[in-house]
Amino acid sequence: MLAELIRAYSWDVDFQRDIRAGDRFEVMYERFFDGPGDDKRGDKGWLVYSGPILYAALTLSGKRYPIYLHATKDGDSDYFDDRGQSARKALMRTPIDGARLSSGFGRRRHPILGYTKLHRGVDFAAPRGTPIYAAGNGVVVRSGRNGAYGNYVRIRHNGRYSTAYAHMRAINKSARRGKRVKQGQIIGTVGSTGRSTGPHLHYEILAGGVRTNPMKVKMPSGRRLKGEALENFQVARAVIDEKFAALETETKVAEAGK
Ligand SMILES: [Zn+2]
Repeated sequence: MLAELIRAYSWDVDFQRDIRAGDRFEVMYERFFDGPGDDKRGDKGWLVYSGPILYAALTLSGKRYPIYLHATKDGDSDYFDDRGQSARKALMRTPIDGARLSSGFGRRRHPILGYTKLHRGVDFAAPRGTPIYAAGNGVVVRSGRNGAYGNYVRIRHNGRYSTAYAHMRAINKSARRGKRVKQGQIIGTVGSTGRSTGPHLHYEILAGGVRTNPMKVKMPSGRRLKGEALENFQVARAVIDEKFAALETETKVAEAGK
């Protein structure tokens, strides 16, 4: 169940690094027994099968992140948060509004250095001061001056993906190192700091530490339920919430060894 829980949250949480003392989780799943039991087996019989997780809520640094298993009309079963956003999120390929892709990923003649160099990110030309968004939920792992990158922010989204933003004019206070950010949250503004010829955002997606092409990297749909699908979800969610509230909960506390 724990492995399943970790998988369901893997787009939001890096379980190797993001868990702090005091964080907690709730989980609800079904258990199937093989029928009427006897004294030895207990009154339900043997446990033959567990799962899947129907509902879970992770509380990280005091903030609660619930997810619900929900089958949509097209027959897909997926985890959604309480507002109908899929738990499997895509990273934004263009974390900025109204920008023009000015330089793609790959070999190019470097505008300042003059020689051919592999460009391991994409550039979006935009006016100075244009807001830059966090491409996904995650934790800021670098924030500040970083050589040729100028003002630079790196966000770790999960055990596999990080994104990086360079040449920023200003970095928001909410995007300092160690802060948790949400997808679409403004982390700073476009500038031309570091080795740059004009205002633009240099954007990188790192997969397993390797800079990959943001325009080509394969990602989940990151869909958000709308209209009738959202209404159906909200009804199903209320039923799950009621079921969970009616349960007698078992509490187990794990304490790290000192
Ligand atoms: Zn660039």
